[in-house]
Amino acid sequence: MVLMGSRCLSAFCQRVSKMYQASLVLPEGSKVADIKCKSHRLMLDAGLIRQASPGTFHLLPLTLRALEKLIKVIDTEMRKVGGQKIAMPGMTPSSLWKTSGRYSEYGPELLTLRDRHDVEYCLGPTHEEAVTDIIAGEKMLSHRQLPIKLYQITNKFRDEMRPRYGLLRGREFLMKDLYTFDCSMEKAEETYRSVCEAYKEIFSILNLPIVQAVGATGAIGGSSSHEFHLLSDIGEDQVYHCSRCGYAVNQETVEGVPSCPDHLSQPECPMGLRQGIEVGHAFLLGTKYSKTFKADFFDEECKSRLAEMGCYGLGVTRILAAAIEVLSSDKEIRWPRLLAPYQVCIISPKEGGKESSAIHLAEWLYQDVCLHAPHLASDMLLDDRGHMTIGRRVKDASQIGYPLIVVVGKRALEADPKFEVINTATGSTEYLSKVELLQQMESIAVL
Ligand code: ATP
Ligand code: MG
Repeated sequence: MVLMGSRCLSAFCQRVSKMYQASLVLPEGSKVADIKCKSHRLMLDAGLIRQASPGTFHLLPLTLRALEKLIKVIDTEMRKVGGQKIAMPGMTPSSLWKTSGRYSEYGPELLTLRDRHDVEYCLGPTHEEAVTDIIAGEKMLSHRQLPIKLYQITNKFRDEMRPRYGLLRGREFLMKDLYTFDCSMEKAEETYRSVCEAYKEIFSILNLPIVQAVGATGAIGGSSSHEFHLLSDIGEDQVYHCSRCGYAVNQETVEGVPSCPDHLSQPECPMGLRQGIEVGHAFLLGTKYSKTFKADFFDEECKSRLAEMGCYGLGVTRILAAAIEVLSSDKEIRWPRLLAPYQVCIISPKEGGKESSAIHLAEWLYQDVCLHAPHLASDMLLDDRGHMTIGRRVKDASQIGYPLIVVVGKRALEADPKFEVINTATGSTEYLSKVELLQQMESIAVL
């Protein structure tokens, strides 16, 4: 029984020797030294992404694992605010964009194509038109059916003037976009506050220091907008940020240095100008789109009224790159712990070396972890590339940033066997017995 179990687990073992990890391939004529953005360079260097064309990237296995974890976090928080997941086509009829007036407003950033009937479509850079058209199609919508909160996590297309910094500014990228329809401005504001809280919760789960900044409100009366930034020198937005109370505002929206509302009586308010990577955006739209597309409902008195809308974006691929940007050193990737592609990497001894008789111990350890901490079974790798030295593989694993690296070396062969455990987040190394190690493994949270 035990044997059968372990044989199954052994077949399941995820081995680095079998993992596809792309080598660094740069577009012709470019050099690593030309890549000024740390996350871009690290991700290319570690085989996490490969450029497909300017501003478009293949997301390779480790990246996709991290991305799927991020999507889980986002899905959970969207569900908590009542979001229902949908998927709208990437192709939106251009006629909808002409109706809203954004066809010309968006300009050359809008990518378009024509079908065989010569009908033109936009490759959606965002989906206010498409989603409002869905709701406008409901002719008998009652106030009882509101609020409606629909979101999707899909690829968006923008022919950016300057695609750069890898996943930070692409021409095709993954976005979470939520659209909400409420029956009054008051309710829409409530929704707005709850989604902003959900965004803060997402970044708090990821342990990322998010800054919520007042953004441009545009011409729509009574509307508000907030941007969510990770502060970094590579960021393309300028944000005034108070290091004391956290109040922040995008420079574009103010004239001169603003003061925090809480510090009006304190002239020494430490408001500094910082660069930020915009990872999210919340916008109270009011009736801008519901009016154009006639997305209305019947209120308690059976009178037709326009839905009050909000739209809320999160740059999913951008969050991943921005997190790497703010957490990593120049040489080594660090992830928000929960998003690391694998939580644990076990390194087996080198073949033919003094410790080679411990090779089977690495396999056993892998299986023991699967039995004692089954939640880690699909989050653990065995670096079984026995032709490489332990040191080289520790360097690799540390560069990719697996939170825990376990080395099965010569001390695993001693009478009182010990495993070397490297915590890449803290940089600490300790030697643990198998029991201690398994205990530590049990406490590792995974998504
Ligand atoms: P930016 O000012 O950086 O161009 P935006 O204001 O155009 O951003 P939104 O239209 O609000 O962005 O889109 C929602 C989110 O999508 C942004 O907050 C950002 O995280 C992400 N995003 C926007 N453009 C890109 C891009 N070219 N590549 C990757 N992510 C992007
Ligand atoms: Mg933009």
